[in-house]
Amino acid sequence: MAGRPARVSGALWRLDDVSFGYGRKPVLANFSYQFERGCCYGVLGPNGSGKTTLLDLLCGLLVPESGAILFNGRPLAHWRPRALARQVALVPQEFMVDFDFSVRMVVEMGRYPHLGRFEDLDGRDHGLVNRVMAELAIDGLADRAVNQLSGGEKQRVAVARALAQQPSVLLLDEATSNLDIFHTLSILGAVRGRARAQGLTVIAAMHDLNQAAFFCDRLLFLNQGRLLCHGPTDEVLRPDVIDEVYGVRAQVAYNDFAKCLQVSFRAPEGDC
Ligand code: ADP
Repeated sequence: MAGRPARVSGALWRLDDVSFGYGRKPVLANFSYQFERGCCYGVLGPNGSGKTTLLDLLCGLLVPESGAILFNGRPLAHWRPRALARQVALVPQEFMVDFDFSVRMVVEMGRYPHLGRFEDLDGRDHGLVNRVMAELAIDGLADRAVNQLSGGEKQRVAVARALAQQPSVLLLDEATSNLDIFHTLSILGAVRGRARAQGLTVIAAMHDLNQAAFFCDRLLFLNQGRLLCHGPTDEVLRPDVIDEVYGVRAQVAYNDFAKCLQVSFRAPEGDC
């Protein structure tokens, strides 16, 4: 498994009996959970199970119909957006930019919540932006228009902007779904390094169970908007849970090469 988190002390987010729906369609129902600091969480579940909705509720983009969400002990609704943006960064599933901003300009936007009203980036901000771009190997794209990049390149820019924000919490919504394995591992490594060294809390909606095993300290399995199962990765990444959540037969075993659990799947009888 992914090793021990640097710090785990006190609830960062508390969700009490949270329900949410789009129009009349209920999506999350009576959801209660406590996210701790310094931990890497994986949010897993089939398409449409409510993972994105949960992340959007956590960062205040959506508001619960009932129940309460507390961040650092204060109701989320009491946080000013700018103060929240200094603490929480979201890497959305679809990274959309309206104008032809360059990669550098977009990564620099990560610093905006830390600047005063008419303040510009200073030398330290530029240094940080340069370091993050080099770390995610997008420094060679710095002057390119983001809208002309591939999906995977855009995802790396979105992660770079979020890291430039230097948040205490990073919400990743399938942030590596378009990436090749090299860039997937370098992004997960960069993020996990910050979790271990700086106590960054990470909550990542993911599909790949093996990436989740590699990256996450704890997993939450959602199904139809309900929290079906949660706990330390080594305890809840089990064939019976995978079968219940996805309806798929799987084998889970410790892999000495990967140094964590890995999952193998078998196609339904008769499909192969
Ligand atoms: P996941 O991230 O697990 O795929 P989502 O949270 O995106 O799931 O979606 C949960 C459910 O809510 C799905 O049935 C989806 O169709 C529905 N949904 C998501 N966004 C909207 C929206 N803006 N309007 C109406 N329904 C939505």
